[in-house]
Amino acid sequence: MTTPPRPAGATGDAPSGRGGPRPEGPAAPYLPTGADRSPDPDPATEAGPAVRPSAAASGAASGAEQPVALVASGAAPQPQPATRPDPLRDPWVPAMRRALAEARSAPRTGDVPIGAVVLGPGGPHGEVIATGRNEREATGDPTAHAEVVALRAAARHLGGWRLTGCTLVVTLEPCTMCAGAGVLSRVDRVVYGAVDAKAGAVGSLWDVMRDRRLNHRPEVLHGVLAAECGELLTDFFRSPR
Ligand SMILES: [Zn+2]
Repeated sequence: MTTPPRPAGATGDAPSGRGGPRPEGPAAPYLPTGADRSPDPDPATEAGPAVRPSAAASGAASGAEQPVALVASGAAPQPQPATRPDPLRDPWVPAMRRALAEARSAPRTGDVPIGAVVLGPGGPHGEVIATGRNEREATGDPTAHAEVVALRAAARHLGGWRLTGCTLVVTLEPCTMCAGAGVLSRVDRVVYGAVDAKAGAVGSLWDVMRDRRLNHRPEVLHGVLAAECGELLTDFFRSPR
């Protein structure tokens, strides 16, 4: 367990944006929504998502059961390994590492480091059929979030829009648009890393994918490599650009 990185804006050290004059204003005491995809020239929104990797890693919102160590009364406590096995999340680590690799390439075009992959049928052992990274700045497309880019590539790969059997793996909790896209794509499952407490739509602000009014509800798992996914974002927003 690691200490959750504090969002830059919360400490008043919000980084300056990339060029151009910006209005002066007091440091934002909160992180507003919608800042998860690109550096925003508005100082009130430039601090990025309020990622909570440690909360995600706890699995609290997923209903995942953590292994419980049963120690007989009077027995000496056993030393705990540095990282406990997590049978629920560990199988998804390789796919999340692919998504992280995508995310790391995003800042080359000034985009916020968020990455996604789509796995074909087979759960965590499914083939990577598509990748995507946040490329809103690179393309000037407001919908070019990593998830949408990856879902579109997966549909091209499969030759149709139904991604039944597939899994979307993404480094940050999807926003409302991407949660909706996940539902509409008919993916079986969505796996994400860090929680986005300020704009997340898969358990944080909304829970679109598990809304019982929808006729398709993907399975959701979060907290896979959450600390790493969150640190990538907080480092990006803290670094001078
Ligand atoms: Zn999105």
